[in-house]
Amino acid sequence: MIDIKSMEYDDVIEYMTSIGEKPFRGKQLFQWMHVHKVASIDDMTNLSKDMRHKLQENCIYTSLTQVDCQISKEDGTRKYLFALSDGNVVESVLMRYKHGNSVCVSSQVGCRMGCRFCASTLDGLERNLTPAEILDQIYSIERDTGEKVSNVVVMGTGEPMDNFDNIVTFIKLLSDERGANLSQRNITVSTCGIVPKMKELASYHFQITLALSLHAPNQAKRLELMPVANKYDINEAVDACRYYFKETGRRITFEYSLVAGVNDSDTDAAELAELIKGINCHVNLIPVNPIKERNYVQSSNEAVHAFKNKLEKYGINVTIRREMGRDIDGACGQLRRKHISKEQKGD
Ligand code: SAH
Repeated sequence: MIDIKSMEYDDVIEYMTSIGEKPFRGKQLFQWMHVHKVASIDDMTNLSKDMRHKLQENCIYTSLTQVDCQISKEDGTRKYLFALSDGNVVESVLMRYKHGNSVCVSSQVGCRMGCRFCASTLDGLERNLTPAEILDQIYSIERDTGEKVSNVVVMGTGEPMDNFDNIVTFIKLLSDERGANLSQRNITVSTCGIVPKMKELASYHFQITLALSLHAPNQAKRLELMPVANKYDINEAVDACRYYFKETGRRITFEYSLVAGVNDSDTDAAELAELIKGINCHVNLIPVNPIKERNYVQSSNEAVHAFKNKLEKYGINVTIRREMGRDIDGACGQLRRKHISKEQKGD
């Protein structure tokens, strides 16, 4: 079976000609998938019944099934749970901002990176998502709301650099002018710091934003929070960001989740400023979202603001990430975990 919705434009045309169709049929098929974003091959009404039948027999047409949608009463954030064709489930989030709709997608079912504060990794990695499974999280949300999505962040469950080839295809498809046509400048990919893949991504010269989940000002503290630091030292990860900027001209985002008494002191801020000095960057501060499996405590409001002020004194661009959807299992991976444990209990 051919995973038709994960194929790039030229490959779709080539496939259609290989089964005896004219190239413009390939163009129509690509448009049904990535412009009209239809949920099934049956909806492709300008293709003949025979041709639709042939496609159904030979292709997988990925279309996710919505299992749950929690809507925040505070800010309208929607947290979706989608089922994949093999029964696995993934989470995606729609955040509504003044400047448009932003969707946070998952890149894997589960995760094997083991970050200490994150709920997505507690059961390890189940499998990678295909490009179509990542794309259809966005398309499904557009179908559900009838609204366009203008920003996409790959910050849901999973480590995108651990699913590299599919992420590259996903970026190409999402930004293809003949298809979904989302500007690469409105796409952000976040990594825990898999250095060789960050460099490989730079070589594609996409205009996307690379975000590094830093969360610590030095190697010793980072090791306590993020096992990936055993493999790639904090300095290597930061150097890979310098390299990414050199290759692409794109400003780097550093994500920094503040944990009370762990990484939120004045000294931590000063050390962080020193670490990223001279990089064209932006720091996103996120008060850690406590998960019940770990006893990390969110930094106080005062500590968060003091940390921000300190960084600004060093001339660093900082924003405090607004916490969206606090009332609906905001932290990564919590909705999926709740769903799985409910199923295991059989209710
Ligand atoms: N694997 C990628 C992307 C997924 S996580 C990465 O590590 O960047 C998206 C962001 O949320 C990361 O910065 C991650 O470290 C952070 N995160 C995960 N769990 C969190 C929590 N409980 N509170 C605050 N931030 C969290």
